[in-house]
Amino acid sequence: MVVGGGIAGTTCAIALHEAGMEATVHEAYDRTADGAGVYLTLAVNALDALRAVDVDLHGLGFDTPRITMRSGSGRTLGELPYGTGLEAAGDGLTSRTVKRADLYRRLREEALRRGVRFEHGRRLVGASPSDDGVVASFADGTTAEGDLLIGADGLRSRTREIIAPDAPGARYNGLLNTGGYASGVPVDSEPGMMNAIFGRRCFFAFTPHPDGEVWWVANPPSPVEPTPAELAAISPEEWRRRLIDLFRDDKGSASDIIGATEKIFAGWNTYDVPSVPVWHSNRMIIIGDAAHATAPSIGQGAAMAIEDAVVLAKCLRDRPTVASAFVAYEGLRRERVERVVEQGRRTGGWKSLHPLAAVPRDLVMRLGMAHMARTGNDPSRWIYEHHIDWAERVPA
Ligand SMILES: Cc1cc2nc3c(=O)[nH]c(=O)nc-3n(C[C@H](O)[C@H](O)[C@H](O)COP(=O)(O)OP(=O)(O)OC[C@H]3O[C@@H](n4cnc5c(N)ncnc54)[C@H](O)[C@@H]3O)c2cc1C
Repeated sequence: MVVGGGIAGTTCAIALHEAGMEATVHEAYDRTADGAGVYLTLAVNALDALRAVDVDLHGLGFDTPRITMRSGSGRTLGELPYGTGLEAAGDGLTSRTVKRADLYRRLREEALRRGVRFEHGRRLVGASPSDDGVVASFADGTTAEGDLLIGADGLRSRTREIIAPDAPGARYNGLLNTGGYASGVPVDSEPGMMNAIFGRRCFFAFTPHPDGEVWWVANPPSPVEPTPAELAAISPEEWRRRLIDLFRDDKGSASDIIGATEKIFAGWNTYDVPSVPVWHSNRMIIIGDAAHATAPSIGQGAAMAIEDAVVLAKCLRDRPTVASAFVAYEGLRRERVERVVEQGRRTGGWKSLHPLAAVPRDLVMRLGMAHMARTGNDPSRWIYEHHIDWAERVPA
């Protein structure tokens, strides 16, 4: 049983099928998830993991080979590849920006094509061990039984609460997130280039689609965590007014892009989940955001969820018992994902500084990026150069 039909859950069901196991996905929502949020960029390590289980995103979104960073004063801080080449996997991978809804749809199609069953309207409320498996109970009063239960139920995971009731939950990051799609606005950027602008008061990023549309996000700082009701009360026009005000002293196209967006998305808070001490017990395990949500700032949460899903399927394929598969899985994943969460936290911190700290921040970034360009030493390489060899067996 896979609980949660998001990115981790659907990919896991696909990977289990490729490994010769059958899974049913139990998803809380009673319709196909269209995915909260605007769009996301899947870095090369995510594409490598999807390729391991024969899923490609051909036709979705567009390539995002490079990222350029600028300050609010309009100064270029540096430019880097968006994920360096994966020598181990061979070439041909370029990070890709896709609408979240399109990614969900493609994963679901790939899962259905392989015969994976989806049960919608099944919100997990409880789970306990049975003689030779797990019994799950759902909010609609139904139950289901399986050999094991994989909790891919996201940031507010119920499975996490069952496995590790004392684990810390989601940690608010002090940043809000909103965005949209602008049309008819000229921007000074080649298509596919991610432009990250560290404004004086707010972070802004835009990526021009080859068809001319401009996809963007903004991260207004908010030291106090707004309630869902407070967020819902902010109308798109109010967002527009607030954002244009936040960028009023910055150079660049942020205000024009925001002005050219018909409907600004309802905002949401950003969180991470730093370290859950226990990932598995009694034939139950958590993966993806349920186990280690990463601040969106680093653009790796979906990538980690996809890697988790594929590695877990390999462990279940290759280890003789469920317990030994879970141990092998944790050994392969914990250090990497917790390092990514920590790096995401630090990256987010750069976006929420006091305006007076913007000048030294920009200087440090510029010097750091110049050093990287000169030496070729990108400290994030280890994130992108991760390769999953599907054929290789998981050792004891
Ligand atoms: C603003 C923002 C921007 C981001 N940008 C990027 C990016 O550019 N690149 C990147 O790699 N990552 C990005 N991420 C992170 C990425 O979206 C998440 O890490 C990813 O969605 C995690 O996948 P998941 O399957 O673990 O969780 P989810 O995608 O949240 O899926 C969880 C699923 O479980 C279901 N569910 C929840 N509770 C239950 C229950 N009790 N019973 C049954 N089902 C349940 C939910 O309905 C949902 O379908 C971003 C995140 C945010 C918030």
